[in-house]
Amino acid sequence: MSALRHVKPAVRALRPYTLAARPAAVKINQNENPYDLPAELKQRVLDAARTRPWSRYPDFDPRELLEALARFSGWRADGILAGNGSNELIEALLMVTVGAGTSVVIPDPTFSLYALLTGVLGGDVVRVPLGPGFAFDADALRSAQRGSAASVVIVCSPNNPTGTALAPDEIARLCRDTDALIVVDEAYHEFSGQSVVPLLPAHPNLVVLRTFSKAMAMAGLRVGYLLASPELVAEVNKARLPYNLNFFSQAAALAVLDDPRVVQDAVARLVRARDALFTELAAMPGVHPCRSRANFILFALEGRLPAEVFAALYAEGVLVRDVSATPRLHDCLRVSVGTEEENALFLDALRRALARP
Ligand code: PMP
Repeated sequence: MSALRHVKPAVRALRPYTLAARPAAVKINQNENPYDLPAELKQRVLDAARTRPWSRYPDFDPRELLEALARFSGWRADGILAGNGSNELIEALLMVTVGAGTSVVIPDPTFSLYALLTGVLGGDVVRVPLGPGFAFDADALRSAQRGSAASVVIVCSPNNPTGTALAPDEIARLCRDTDALIVVDEAYHEFSGQSVVPLLPAHPNLVVLRTFSKAMAMAGLRVGYLLASPELVAEVNKARLPYNLNFFSQAAALAVLDDPRVVQDAVARLVRARDALFTELAAMPGVHPCRSRANFILFALEGRLPAEVFAALYAEGVLVRDVSATPRLHDCLRVSVGTEEENALFLDALRRALARP
């Protein structure tokens, strides 16, 4: 179709980010928190939403939320941007930094959106393979940045889909050794017990992304935030759409920040369940799980096609993520940590799938 010739060739060549909607009794494919927010908290947010006029825009700057995020994270409110999910803020950040001729360094494999958005914006992606056991190779990231004079290095830590993390002192070293922006996606940081937010005062080239979609149990409401120096935040803010965060999601985020214990207990439980799940997977013949700092586990299958095992699990109502189309992960599946009951159902279904001739 001739209308398509107006689309940038680099965009035509990209594959979209998609996920087929599949109903499942045990849904452990999107790294969500299986423990929903308490009914009383939901009721409070609903009551507040009912009395507020829906015909009026939300505040231009969600001041109250930014201040609550500042108290929660330990970073200054004028160095925080709130977004409609952290994906929106990754996009805003790349919009103000990437154009034709800009390079962005990313580890490989990692969350696919970074490369997709860099491609849409006309930039070049420089991929740096993760090392043995999918460990980060900070030296290789550093030399790739130098070699390509990249403007941005994106480190997802813990990394999706491997669950591996880069230590904060390595990230501090990266920040010191280059003037590129070092972007740390901390979507899963709660499950790792580490964060680079304390490094922000000393490193004006550090950007941290966080989300309410995982540990904070609010994936359906789309809230994320970006933390960086106020000067940098003011620039990224230029690419943020006006009124990007609806008042309902703001109110829900404020309610969780008002009493974070409602999610902290679930996080502790999920971390214990993750470690138990790892032990079970590691004990299965032909299954090789990757040690994870997040709320999911990547595992390789020996002598089995992941697509077949995925289908056998799904036939039993267990939905995991088939990541085998990703380069280097041709023998892998990824499973999110569910409730103890869901994890047991998954393990039973996996044992049966692997016992088939
Ligand atoms: N970063 C990473 C590493 C993720 O895995 C995801 C979700 N899959 C996101 C960001 C998206 O977060 P949000 O829902 O806040 O847009």
